[in-house]
Amino acid sequence: PKSVSFLGLGAMGHHMAKHLVGKFDTVMVWNRTSDKAEAHAKEFGTLAVTLQQAVTADVIFSCLPTSNVVDEVIEQALPYLSANSVWVDCTSGVPDQAKASQEKLKAIGCEFLDAPVSGQTSGADSGTLTVMVGGSAEALAYAKPAIECFAGLIVHVGDSGAGFAVKAVNNTLFAINAWAAAEGLSVLKAHGVNPSDALACINKASGQSFATLATFPDRIVNRAFPKTFTIDLMAKDCGIAIDLQTQKKVPTPVMAQVASLVRAASNQHEPGAADFSEFAKFYEMMSGIDIK
Ligand code: NDP
Repeated sequence: PKSVSFLGLGAMGHHMAKHLVGKFDTVMVWNRTSDKAEAHAKEFGTLAVTLQQAVTADVIFSCLPTSNVVDEVIEQALPYLSANSVWVDCTSGVPDQAKASQEKLKAIGCEFLDAPVSGQTSGADSGTLTVMVGGSAEALAYAKPAIECFAGLIVHVGDSGAGFAVKAVNNTLFAINAWAAAEGLSVLKAHGVNPSDALACINKASGQSFATLATFPDRIVNRAFPKTFTIDLMAKDCGIAIDLQTQKKVPTPVMAQVASLVRAASNQHEPGAADFSEFAKFYEMMSGIDIK
């Protein structure tokens, strides 16, 4: 690809797009609130453009809140897409909507890859994200030099929708680990053990997880709760996983329960207002024990 573009310069997209600079003839950015695109262009040397211009690129990235938003943007973009272009959607989205987008783009000679990412804003900043890709192998081979700019690992996990499915399950596993750690640390605190001392042991023992290694020390125990991944997006991801289990009649009592708890925690806040780590405050309200 000679030209690339990035749609959606939010917490993730802002960082992901900057890694494309200098590697292609043209690197265009578009954001609904255009000030952010202008600022990105100034800071990183990208080209701030209209949506109609952005979608003429050979490889088009999007990183937007939900598949519904991506669908709206695709509808507006359809008349302007170049033939043979590949749309790489890094949103954490809905598998069935990826299949529909792929069919829509295929009909006009383009391709759609669902390519959600994991690694938080820090991984986006350092260009080391894990990318789970669903869609055609040929389209992935074409877009790979662009995806590699912000990736530490790229795995082709299956046909359209498979990337979104892996991402939804991954985030639900993370939510389960985080919720379980909140319970475990609270029980220990009730028995007089300091949460940081408990984490020091658990993080060198078999109970460790990303939640105990990173989320609790960096966000919860230190009461920082930095807003980098909002809890409504986490609740959305768990909801996608629950829809997947329902479709195939797979019993998943633990996933279902934690998804529901994350939804309840999310509903305490306006969308976009709280980091996912604030689920711990919701649990603290239930337990009466602060995890600090
Ligand atoms: P943000 O809320 O920070 O950014 C959202 C982006 O989408 C902004 O550019 C926003 O534009 C744009 N947007 C919102 N609504 C619309 C709309 N109706 N039409 C057009 N553009 C719109 O989200 P994140 O960057 O945190 O997340 C993006 C995706 O990545 C989500 O699916 C999330 O689940 C996933 N993700 C997030 C991670 C994280 O750590 N934050 C990690 C891994 C995946 P505007 O500036 O105008 O508001």
